[in-house]
Amino acid sequence: MEGCTFCSIVKGDVPALKVYEDNDFVGFLDIAPLNEGHVLLVPRIHYRWTWDVPNFGEYWEAAKKIAQAQIKGLNANMVEFLTHGMDVHHAHIWIVPIYANENFIDSKTRNNFDEGKMMDISEKIKKAL
Ligand SMILES: [Zn+2]
Repeated sequence: MEGCTFCSIVKGDVPALKVYEDNDFVGFLDIAPLNEGHVLLVPRIHYRWTWDVPNFGEYWEAAKKIAQAQIKGLNANMVEFLTHGMDVHHAHIWIVPIYANENFIDSKTRNNFDEGKMMDISEKIKKAL
């Protein structure tokens, strides 16, 4: 869709640290993460909401693979899935690792990590996939 940031990321017109790709879905690091390793998983085709994605089950299977990689590769204790969908109007699942001594994520606090740290996080997730 014209003017959609996530469509541009899928096409490669907007740079992103992609950690996961298959025929239907692309996962990349959120540039303003709620926590270290926060991944956005989007369908390649533009759908407004997650429930508009026809292969909804496969969508969540892909989300599960990323969550398991965050647990293994980043030593996360658990993972939160969020699907607000209000910020960018292209279906996306937030996949947010939670670490030791953390109980929940404050969804208003966005972080800004330097490029080196973001690269390191993306490599750790990719290696664990
Ligand atoms: Zn889009």
